[in-house]
This record gives sequence, structure tokens and C-alpha cells, in this order.
Amino acid sequence: MSQKASRHAVNMLVDTHTHIHNKNDRADSAEGIFKHAHELGVDKIITIGTRPEDSLNAKEFAEKWAKNGENIYWTFGFHPNEYAEIDRADLTNTINVAQKALKSPQNVGIGEIGLDYHFDGYDAQRQRELLEECLQLAQDTKKPVSFHVRDAFDDFWPIFDNFHLVTSVMHSFSDSKKNLRAALDRGLFIGVNGLATFADIAHPPLERMVLETDAPYLTPKQFRGKMNKPGYVKYVAEWAAEYYKVDFDEVARITTANAEKIFEI
Ligand SMILES: [Zn+2]
Repeated sequence: MSQKASRHAVNMLVDTHTHIHNKNDRADSAEGIFKHAHELGVDKIITIGTRPEDSLNAKEFAEKWAKNGENIYWTFGFHPNEYAEIDRADLTNTINVAQKALKSPQNVGIGEIGLDYHFDGYDAQRQRELLEECLQLAQDTKKPVSFHVRDAFDDFWPIFDNFHLVTSVMHSFSDSKKNLRAALDRGLFIGVNGLATFADIAHPPLERMVLETDAPYLTPKQFRGKMNKPGYVKYVAEWAAEYYKVDFDEVARITTANAEKIFEI
């Protein structure tokens, strides 16, 4: 066993996709969130940016709490639904800002990025252009990606296939078996969260899974109606143990090893 692994309990969990850097997205103080997470065995957390300014907040939050001894990491994101807020003329400049910020010792990737045609009023063309810029950045920097794709896989795959990325994650997958297969065939890992505990969706093999909460959203069924938090990833792991008919420790071992490898944490 490596020195790094031996520091942790065997059933340590990772929340690979959460949004806890903003006060409004937290059910508790930052201290309270971390304490609750540790109590439930969640020792590594990746807080995900959704747009440039928000991503820089995530950077600041992660760097601050890492200094306090937390295993907290962050990603730089351009959520497809937030794109309207980014001035097209500023995008090149913003990509430069991202490129610099990605050098942060706590940065572990790019995301969330992708396509989302779920809500009326989206601009598919602009979303696709933004995705291409982000994928170019991911390819150039060799950073893993946390993808957000909703109701847009037919447009997503041809763009994705034009780039060469390091192993990345399709976060909160809730589409067809066909698109699950397409993701797995392309080497993507699947981020499974509280949705699995209450929605009828397709599930990846355990070997290709990472755990997440997407807090403050998608609270597992035991706590529906409450704000989600990273500690609740434990209930996603419990769901997986039941669904895959394996021990909880096996779920923890596999999903944690996947997360540590993909994000180098
Ligand atoms: Zn998210």
C-alpha cells in the first residue's frame, strides 16, 4: 500500500462534483460542511466552477481551506446555461484568465462544461462554440473535464470526438442506455449522485463510476427537501452497494481509486 493510501480509512469517499465555495450554495458554514463530510467518511472534495467569476471564487475557497488541511480541490467551468452572460468578445481574454488560474496547486480540471438544451431560450450555436473553446483548453492543458450534458448528446458527441482528452467524467448522467454506452466506449467515467436514489436512470458498471453530490442540488432520497452537502455522498455509496450487491467498502475502494486516478488527488 502506498503511503498516500495508507493515510486514509479503507472506506474513504470522494465527492467529485459539488458547489460549496459560494455561501448561498452551502447548507452550513464551510467548517460545518467539512466536519459533516469527515464524520461521514468523505475526505476529498472537488468544488466545481460554473462560470469564470464563480471559478475564481472556487479557486480562492479551495486554496484557503487547503491551507487549513482540507483535501479540497476546484475546477474552472463555463456551464452551458451561463454562456449568455459571457461576452463573446471577452471569451479569448477569459480563456487566458482560465489558463493562468489552472496553475493553482488545488486545480484538478476544467468543468463544468458541455451542452444543455433542456430549458427554452438556449442558443445551440453559441453553446457549441463555447464547448469547442473549452475542449481546446482541456486538450492543451491535459486537464480532466467534468462534463454537463443534458438533452444534447446528438450534438455533443461529434464535437467531443474532435479532441483528445485525458480521462474525464460525465457528471450526473441521466440519459439513455445508448448514450451511456457511447460515453463508456469513449473512455469516460460516470458521475453518480443522489439522482440514482430516486430516479429511474441507466447506471454504469461500478468499475467506471465516481461518486458525487452536485450539492446543493440532487439531495439523496433520505433527505429530499433539504439542501445537499458533500457528506451525503455516503448515501449514494450506500445506494450503490445495494444496487450492485457488493460491500460498502468495495464501492468506496473502487470509486475512490477512480477519482484519485482521474483527478490526480
Ligand atoms: Zn454541478
